[in-house]
Amino acid sequence: ISCTCSEGDYNVCITCNCCCCAEVTSRELPVGELLERANRDRTPDFDEPTLIGGDIAIKSEVDRNADPCTASDCLWGKWSDGKVYIPYYIANHFSSREQAIIVRGLDSFSSVSCIRFRPYQNGDRDWVSIESRNGCYSYVGRQGGGQTVSLSRQGCLYHSTVQHELLHALGFNHEQTRSDRDSYIRVNWENIIEGMEYNFYKINTLNQGTPYDYNSVMQYERYAFSRNSLPTMVPIPNSNVSLGQATQMSQNDIVRLNRLYKCCKYMVVQLKKNIKEHTHTQGHSKGVPTAKYKNYSTDTTNGV
Ligand SMILES: [Zn+2]
Repeated sequence: ISCTCSEGDYNVCITCNCCCCAEVTSRELPVGELLERANRDRTPDFDEPTLIGGDIAIKSEVDRNADPCTASDCLWGKWSDGKVYIPYYIANHFSSREQAIIVRGLDSFSSVSCIRFRPYQNGDRDWVSIESRNGCYSYVGRQGGGQTVSLSRQGCLYHSTVQHELLHALGFNHEQTRSDRDSYIRVNWENIIEGMEYNFYKINTLNQGTPYDYNSVMQYERYAFSRNSLPTMVPIPNSNVSLGQATQMSQNDIVRLNRLYKCCKYMVVQLKKNIKEHTHTQGHSKGVPTAKYKNYSTDTTNGV
């Protein structure tokens, strides 16, 4: 398959043998910047968790060095239909506009993966509870029972931040803490705010065979936690490539999500540009609401 989209990146969807062009989103601040702003000078309530890495909640200090839990038991379960249903509850203190942003973020997973966020029902065992607490944060992976995903009304209600926090809840860490990050970024320890160095400690992550992605929605920007306005992270070998500018999930974010959860039908590949545009309106993923993709018919060669 080869596809053309007028702008931006696109997927080839194997299921429908069609191209899915991402809508060009309005200019938004990069996710890392939004998170840092929102969590700056945060004062947690007594019942709120400690944060590490900027926005990752931990239950106690001993969790800090935990192995990537996705290797063991913090994945969300899969149903016999091949989908991963994750119940959510949205606190009623959000405005309808804010709720719409959250729901758009939740729904964005269903057009690209087998993850299905659905409203909490009586009897659900594990769920995410989306609340406006102090800052933007989430635990990494399924915790058991209800787990808070905080999206503060002060600064966390953006498509990118919603996706970012939900990816934490699904088991993902920050790109800059990946096990192989030293081959892709140089950490300038001397520029990091004293006491914040732990935000850059490497984690023995499972990278799902995906490359380091400077444009992952899980990548912070180069001045994150800087004490002197100098970069704390520099891409190598080319220091000029853009870093942490994502405003939504990247192709790699989607690919690794699908690999981690073995969403076989949704394995997508990114191709190179150059195409003519045909629009057909049919969604490619059955029964999915609010797909934010336009589908385009394709020239057919060999799909991957
Ligand atoms: Zn984060």
